[in-house]
Amino acid sequence: MAVPKKKTSKSRRDMRRAHAALVPVFGGECQTCGEKKRPHHVCPVCGHYNKRPVLKDSRVSE
Ligand SMILES: [Zn+2]
Repeated sequence: MAVPKKKTSKSRRDMRRAHAALVPVFGGECQTCGEKKRPHHVCPVCGHYNKRPVLKDSRVSE
């Protein structure tokens, strides 16, 4: 079995992982309130989906 000749130092290991950070994904913004929201999900701020209220929310005034 192939075995690494030298131990990977903490510095090398961390340098390798410098590009491994996860970046938040935002598919777009809510068409009703303009807040950033995940794609194909109901807006958590105003409870709208596809410009339609789908959640009962007292914060929405209609
Ligand atoms: Zn919204």
